[in-house]
Amino acid sequence: MLDFISPDPVALHARLRPAATACVDLAGNRQWTYRELDTDIQRAVTVLGAEGIVKGDRVAVLARNNVHQVILQQALMRLGAIFVPLNWRLSQQELGQLLRDCTPSILYTDEDIPELPPGCRAKSFRNFASEVAVAEPGARCTPHSGHDTCIILYTSGTSGVPKGALLTSQFLLATAVNFNILGEVDTGCVFLCDSPMFHVIGIVTQIWPPMLRGGTFIVSPGFDPELTNERLGNPDFGVTHYFCVPQMAEALRHASNFAPERWSRLKALFTGGAPNPPAHIRWWLDHGVRMVDGYGMTETGTTLGMPLSQELLRAKAGAVGLAGPLTAIRLVDEDDRDVPDGSPGEILVFGLNVVTGYWNRPEERQRSFTADGWIRTGDVGRRDEDGFISIVDRRKDMFISGGENVYPVEIEAALAEHPGVREVAVIGIPDERWGEVGRAYVVMAPDRRPDPEELARHCQSLIARYKVPKEFRFVTSLPRTGSGKVMKHVLRREALVEL
Ligand code: ATP
Ligand code: MG
Repeated sequence: MLDFISPDPVALHARLRPAATACVDLAGNRQWTYRELDTDIQRAVTVLGAEGIVKGDRVAVLARNNVHQVILQQALMRLGAIFVPLNWRLSQQELGQLLRDCTPSILYTDEDIPELPPGCRAKSFRNFASEVAVAEPGARCTPHSGHDTCIILYTSGTSGVPKGALLTSQFLLATAVNFNILGEVDTGCVFLCDSPMFHVIGIVTQIWPPMLRGGTFIVSPGFDPELTNERLGNPDFGVTHYFCVPQMAEALRHASNFAPERWSRLKALFTGGAPNPPAHIRWWLDHGVRMVDGYGMTETGTTLGMPLSQELLRAKAGAVGLAGPLTAIRLVDEDDRDVPDGSPGEILVFGLNVVTGYWNRPEERQRSFTADGWIRTGDVGRRDEDGFISIVDRRKDMFISGGENVYPVEIEAALAEHPGVREVAVIGIPDERWGEVGRAYVVMAPDRRPDPEELARHCQSLIARYKVPKEFRFVTSLPRTGSGKVMKHVLRREALVEL
């Protein structure tokens, strides 16, 4: 029985506002109205049908951001087939692993490709675009259930091997609704999209909200601090919403052409995906930009977000806000009992924006969900007296020093307040006396001399003594995932080998 039908906002807007600009492709220097976008998606349905793609088939893509990825995703959704965007930053070996996992019928790519699993054909992504341009639009497909998987999205691999999260069209819709309400998105919105489309921010959060509203999304091939600054300041674009991970926001403000006073239509700069130190959020507010931190994961899309009020953003810097309207949150202890306000607890999420499980990993669903269907995020949060949630840290990253729980994010936030610190990551390492102690990996600003004693003193002025890192390592960069997150498991592995 069909109880929820896959949504198709482009088909609707093709009738509601056919001549409105749906999207712009900066690499191809082209734009589409909603009617044109709808037609191209139907043409892509024809192209994919001719390739023999049917309901349930996987089609993978390995390519830089491009409107044709959105066309491909939408066409597959109309066919009931599954879109699998892959991270082009992975090694050939890692890609091979993912391809063997999702066994696509076709891999669209113009990159060097690893060995393909049996049954998978490689096709040029560029040719896909040219085939779409000349194909006849196919007949409309019967809508599919909103509970069918339409995207397999591999998690970032921050804590280990990426897992293929199963996104339904209900998930995409719910994420867009959550974002649109929290982020005050209306029909006149213009999103600049340069987060990679193999990440949930890239293919879901920066595309679906404007698409659902009938607004505009501008797709850039990728983030570049100077170019992105230029685009945010370009009055012809009039960007209203921009979403990035905190590391990209940092790169923006250190770029030579940084001029936020030119971002005249920007409602807010949205961050998420990794901790954003309160000191940085305050810095942006001081420079006239509303920086709005939110929380989500591949498995839950847009989940929590801050309201766009200047006063609240300043008063609550460091909080990730309130749950979107289609989502409920619980904070629980090890026995799944709700913790009181102010106490740390694991975040559980329930809502239409939650994945149904993981591709090929039924045991992982068992592990990650409670019996009544709440997903265990693995993240620790805290709720304040007004109901606002702050992310404390990933549970796995916590360490215990002299019997006290230590959350590295708190130490990183303290170090981020030091003007000489550009990037920082803290891990727990074994210690004879205390069980575990902190080790900080620090990238200093170019003009600053590394001085561990000074950094330790700085920490002591802000956090309890047992949290102050015992060791400081000065490095030129941190190991990061394709979406810019620090891979602490790599640092921990290196530290263990060393010790
Ligand atoms: P993997 O699951 O493969 O280890 P990952 O968890 O980094 O990778 P994503 O789904 O991209 O994969 O990231 C979700 C995670 O990012 C969350 O579980 C949380 O730890 C972190 N995160 C998201 N938003 C925030 C935020 N605003 N502040 C702090 N951490 C955040
Ligand atoms: Mg995760």
